Amino acid sequence: MLKLYNTLTKRKEEFKPIHPGKVGFYTCGPTVYDHCHIGHARGYVAMDIIRRYLEYSGYEVRFIMNYTDVGHLVNNAEVGEDKIQKKAKLEKIDPLEIVERYIESSKEDFEALNVKPANFYPRPTQYIAQIIKFIEDLIRKGYAYAVNGSVYFSVEKFPEYGKLSGRKTDELLEGARVEINPEKKNPMDFALWIKAEYIHILKWKSPWSLGYPGWHIECSVMSSDLLGQDTFDIHGGGNENIFPHNENEIAQSEASLGKKMANYWTLWNMVNINGEKMSKSKNNHTTIKKILAEYDPMVARLWIISSHYRSIVDYAENSLSQAKTNLKKITEWINTLQNISANAPGEKSEISFTHIYQKRFEDSMNDDFNTPLALSAIYDLISETNKLLSENKLSPATAKEILFFWNRINKVFGLIISDQEKIPENLILIAKRRKQAREEKDFQLSDDLRKEIERLGYVMEDLKGNDYLIKKL
Ligand SMILES: [Zn+2]
Repeated sequence: MLKLYNTLTKRKEEFKPIHPGKVGFYTCGPTVYDHCHIGHARGYVAMDIIRRYLEYSGYEVRFIMNYTDVGHLVNNAEVGEDKIQKKAKLEKIDPLEIVERYIESSKEDFEALNVKPANFYPRPTQYIAQIIKFIEDLIRKGYAYAVNGSVYFSVEKFPEYGKLSGRKTDELLEGARVEINPEKKNPMDFALWIKAEYIHILKWKSPWSLGYPGWHIECSVMSSDLLGQDTFDIHGGGNENIFPHNENEIAQSEASLGKKMANYWTLWNMVNINGEKMSKSKNNHTTIKKILAEYDPMVARLWIISSHYRSIVDYAENSLSQAKTNLKKITEWINTLQNISANAPGEKSEISFTHIYQKRFEDSMNDDFNTPLALSAIYDLISETNKLLSENKLSPATAKEILFFWNRINKVFGLIISDQEKIPENLILIAKRRKQAREEKDFQLSDDLRKEIERLGYVMEDLKGNDYLIKKL
């Protein structure tokens, strides 16, 4: 039974899909005005693991991630400059050129990290007509009002406002950064549509003004358009966006639908840099590209999944070295298993060696996607394999079974294990000839072939029952 932590109810709940066998999954995506940073890597690998585990569990997952390409203002504020427009001005190019560049960059990063592509990547600039329709509906239903060409959501009209962040409206008012905006009836109201200043390049005709959508409305419009005009299963994202972004999404969607937006809110936690919160002002911002210049992307992926997605992780110099050692350990293990199992085509394992590890893996993942615990089962399996190997007790059939198990669960971990250390074909042939020579008691030939193997930089270890193992010298 899969249990996941739901930020909406603040507890772990049993996962029950709305439609049997299917999962609708929406996650807030990045605002594409810069290269993605390590926090994005952590977040989207976490979402990828959740999606992959749902697929492993037999669900058909429809996974949607947006790219924000307009309306996200600097400092997540309600008034001020658009992040993309600001960057475009700086570089003296069109805002959509900025958008294309950084979408490309993020796709490159996530492909390297082996994050499965989303079913669709909607962008608000492609959804203006639907956004306008959605806002008109909110005005008609009495949840929103237009003033001087801008439209605001009236927080008072939605009594459940604050249910995700767990804050009451008056607390929100005290705690939040509230800009003085005389157009708003209540300082907590937020913009659905913003009348564009003359200099804003991306703007569209609407019943209210030549303007552009606010940051939050896109997720309500695009999730309902792509996952059905109804409640969907899982809403993902980073917990730094619970307020105001996710809270406002809920208000918009639930006011419009008259029902729950999403059943489960699974939000990842942030990455600190040297114990400090990452921020551009502190200049401790680390991009994915910077990390991948130094490390194999799979080291980065293993580092990310070695922590639980809801815990804060700290990134510092050498943080990835343990993951590097562990990836090497996994790679060597796989290579050994491949070499041993190559000796036993068609042979079947007599005992089910991996079932207890499979249970540990599934129990860990069923407990709110506990990847560090799931990995510890694999490290224990590696130790047990090595123990068997040292005692000459690892049969080719068992090696095959372990490999089969690994290939199955690695669909969830998503680690690409390089074949670089795979034993070359000609070496396998020489080893087979030597095995035959030994069986025929031709010790001279057997000895010559052993020397030949050593000359090629490998060593052949004889195991019980005429099995053998080839290792690099
Ligand atoms: Zn969003």
